[in-house]
Amino acid sequence: MVYNLQADFSSIKAALRAGTDHCFGLATHPSEILAKLIDLCSHEDEPPFRVLVVEDSTTASISIQRTLKQSGIESHAVTDPAEILNSLRSYQPDLVLMDMFMPKCTGVEATRVIRQHPEFLSTPIIYLSGEGDMGLQVDALRLGGEYFLTKPFNPVFLNAVVKSKIERYRALRRSMQHDGLTGLLNHRAIKDRLATAIHLAARTNGLLSVAMIDIDHFKHVNDKYGHPIGDQMIRGLAWLLKQRLRKSDLVGRYGGEEFLVVLPDSDSSQARDILDRIRQDFATIKHALSDQWFEASFSTGVSGYPAITCPESLIKDADAALYEAKQKGRNTVVARG
Ligand code: GH3
Ligand code: MG
Ligand code: MG
Ligand code: MG
Repeated sequence: MVYNLQADFSSIKAALRAGTDHCFGLATHPSEILAKLIDLCSHEDEPPFRVLVVEDSTTASISIQRTLKQSGIESHAVTDPAEILNSLRSYQPDLVLMDMFMPKCTGVEATRVIRQHPEFLSTPIIYLSGEGDMGLQVDALRLGGEYFLTKPFNPVFLNAVVKSKIERYRALRRSMQHDGLTGLLNHRAIKDRLATAIHLAARTNGLLSVAMIDIDHFKHVNDKYGHPIGDQMIRGLAWLLKQRLRKSDLVGRYGGEEFLVVLPDSDSSQARDILDRIRQDFATIKHALSDQWFEASFSTGVSGYPAITCPESLIKDADAALYEAKQKGRNTVVARG
């Protein structure tokens, strides 16, 4: 539910008490409200929470995993801290439950190793240990942990802490990964997702395609009709792409009026056909102004894995194909590979 009000503490408190989920100040730009609405609507089918349990005792990890399962939280256990980095990459957990005392290394040491990797800098880590010494707990938190729970743990409390940490982590990650104007993945996030999708394709002997989309003569749209109309067109194309592509496809705003699309399990010619249908439909849209309308188009370049295996080269190749499409007269799709 969304409520429009003065952005002072008491008004926001009153709105929240009345059951509102999110508040906007009166001067909020409509694009910000739309982006939030898309955001609120887009995580209806969120994947289950995933926890990596690092614990040298198998008995203890079975008991932790059973507890998490009671709240519908999925988990994966590692007994050897040396496996942590690989598991973080392959399992992609939302949170790590870290034992304090293990034979080869302590939980604090393992946490410090994790924090050396920028991609895992914000992954919440909760220590779970029999250690009741307050000084040691404080040190453990200072060195990169999020919270400290002592064993024997209270199952209800453990699950409540895990869930609330994951909810906040996912909300933060969403706002860091999404573009404000369109609600799509931003430049960095779509590149990260492409790298992950390639890893997955490599593991499963699969394939994928990458498409770079760029609106034609967009400078002219801005110059003739104004920047807000240009923004509206960017949002419109973003929504069209989201609506028309599959749930498993990834759509990002790569730059101003450029979009990067990743289509897992589609080869270049399938991707070309899919994008060509969207291209044809976009070209028939009548963009409304107060007393007239105008038409626009986009061009697309497509490249494919495994013909090219490195993410940067896939993007470069899609960009080169896009350039070719522009040279051919625009409003067209060029596929390579
Ligand atoms: P081409 O067909 O060759 O792509 O021509 P073009 O005019 O679209 O050229 P180009 O892609 O280089 O131009 C992109 C323009 O998009 C330049 C910039 O002013 C505009 N732009 C970038 N970001 C935004 C934005 O967020 N909103 C709006 N309205 N315009 C933007
Ligand atoms: Mg232990
Ligand atoms: Mg451009
Ligand atoms: Mg352009």
